[in-house]
Amino acid sequence: MNKTDIEWADMTWNPVVGCKHGCEYCYARRIAKRFGGYDKADGTITTHNPLPRAELHQPLTITRSSGKTVNSPFPFGFEPTLLYYRLEEPQHIKKPHTIFVCSMADLFGNWVPTNWIKLVLDACEAAPQHRYMFLTKNPERYAQLDRLALLPHKDNFCYGSTVTGKDGRRFNGSVLLNTFLSIEPLHENLDAGLGSFGGDRLIIIGAETGNRAGKIIPEKAWVDNICEAADITHAAVFMKDSLKPIVGKGNMRRELPWER
Ligand code: SF4
Repeated sequence: MNKTDIEWADMTWNPVVGCKHGCEYCYARRIAKRFGGYDKADGTITTHNPLPRAELHQPLTITRSSGKTVNSPFPFGFEPTLLYYRLEEPQHIKKPHTIFVCSMADLFGNWVPTNWIKLVLDACEAAPQHRYMFLTKNPERYAQLDRLALLPHKDNFCYGSTVTGKDGRRFNGSVLLNTFLSIEPLHENLDAGLGSFGGDRLIIIGAETGNRAGKIIPEKAWVDNICEAADITHAAVFMKDSLKPIVGKGNMRRELPWER
């Protein structure tokens, strides 16, 4: 587990890494490319997966250009990989934290085996002192798992959907689940698409960061529309720092439902 500068969480935990969604603006893929791979016996570095499935019980090491050898954070690059040896990490931290689960993956992507998800959820249940924030671009998977009674209904399990535009998919399958919406990066005016956020307790909004060619800078009116819709359903609004130049420092909202 690592401390994070993601503003709505204290820590990230990545027992599964890698994702196949292929978003153009993905920072995780860039990081996995830069820091991924493992040492082969002949001293070279590869991301080739020699296993039938990308599941590792022990870390693989990678030797950096500085000569230092460390456990590789992304041994098979951005290929979805279960790192069993990280599953117990939350249990070793007694102080309660808000943990962004699988910040370097989409744990609920269609390609993720259900038993991987179950292992991660079980590991969360084994360390109930923490709050777990899940985030997916495939919220239908929440609904499928919920129908199978595999998704814990607990106050400290928060199920988020990521949308960036009007065609984004939200999870609203069950009012009994603790859900939130992450609109990051905000790529268009969602006003007509979302309207209101019934059921979601929290709306996170952020602008695209980095210097990608074609980067989209949101308009203040787009943010205002989201806030208006959130206020109708009393959802908390959390604006990421990336919005400061757009809405102005004095208009930033940093609400979290568990702090209200
Ligand atoms: S869903 Fe997230 S991790 Fe996956 S490609 Fe898109 S930005 Fe990257």
